[in-house]
Amino acid sequence: MAEASPQRTDVNELGEFGLIEHLTKQRPETTQHASTIKSIGDDAAVIDQGDALTVVSTDMLVEGIHFDLMYTPLKHLGYKSVVVNLSDIYAMNAQPEQITVSIAISNRFSVEALEELYDGIYTACRYYGVDLVGGDMTSSPRGMVISVTAIGKGTREKLTYRNTAKVGDLLCVTGNLGAAYLGLQILEREKQLYLSNPGIQPDLEDQDFLVGRQLKPEARRDMIELFAKNQLVPTAMIDISDGLASEIFHLCQQSGTGAFVEESGVPIHPDAELMALKFQLDPITCALSGGEDYELLFTIDPADVDKVKYLPDIYIMGEMTRPEDGIKLHTKGGNIHPIKAQGWRHFGGGA
Ligand code: ADP
Ligand code: MG
Repeated sequence: MAEASPQRTDVNELGEFGLIEHLTKQRPETTQHASTIKSIGDDAAVIDQGDALTVVSTDMLVEGIHFDLMYTPLKHLGYKSVVVNLSDIYAMNAQPEQITVSIAISNRFSVEALEELYDGIYTACRYYGVDLVGGDMTSSPRGMVISVTAIGKGTREKLTYRNTAKVGDLLCVTGNLGAAYLGLQILEREKQLYLSNPGIQPDLEDQDFLVGRQLKPEARRDMIELFAKNQLVPTAMIDISDGLASEIFHLCQQSGTGAFVEESGVPIHPDAELMALKFQLDPITCALSGGEDYELLFTIDPADVDKVKYLPDIYIMGEMTRPEDGIKLHTKGGNIHPIKAQGWRHFGGGA
């Protein structure tokens, strides 16, 4: 038995990002190869292969933390676990080509159940044009854990990082925000009702859009292709997994800027707006802190504004400001509020 260590720091004291930084920074051996162009800190790592650049990203989904099998069909789970990884590759303005899938399962899962999971995985592979090339399979005492690694290809001219936004750049997003979070609220509400009265039928209130945004998100490959077609290279980019506020915070922190966001410029679907009010939530709070939207948040040089102005599904919602101006929201009511850095939620939060 090891002796009890004299000091014990709770992981919650550092939070997810603080912990990653604590464990990996100030290690001289972090980068031993000149081919490691981008290491920890972005949506994906970037490796120089001479002609092409390889882009790699991993995400792990844990039952009970990231998904609940009471309302998540395994097929959707398989699909989503691929999509969330591909989203990180697109967030580098790169194209995913391969994935590996590692799963830990207990004997609670039948072969038929796992076939469902893999139907979802292969459906996503087909739709996004990626190959499943390997992985690992192991047992777990109870729940299911799925870890997907996505490998993609990019070019030096197009790869887009988090730390390259400039003061004056326009802040844009590829689609509406907050809906996935509200879909989750509906599913959670129905689960609680079911647990208190198993005879009850779920009432999803015809909220296909919101529930769909939660259970079957898509990654914005179409946007990467649209950028290429219009010869647009964003100055910085990140995908929205933890929530708009958290991702703006990452862009600003890494680029050394502030940001000014117009609440009226933040796209929120009318269904999300209505459902937020039903749950007595502020729609903008759902957009800022909800997460799992898997839209792309990016900045452009204002000289490129004509390239995005008339494109469908691109919303300009603010601009990057000097770092001393902080991260601010200009509300519809005319007030200016600081946006709080989210994503530093308790350990075990978002993917
Ligand atoms: P995303 O939300 O885009 O998936 P994360 O917030 O999970 O990104 O991770 C932020 C950065 O930290 C990424 O570059 C990721 O590769 C890196 N990272 C996450 N967990 C670890 C870990 N356990 N060890 C080393 N690097 C990590
Ligand atoms: Mg990401």
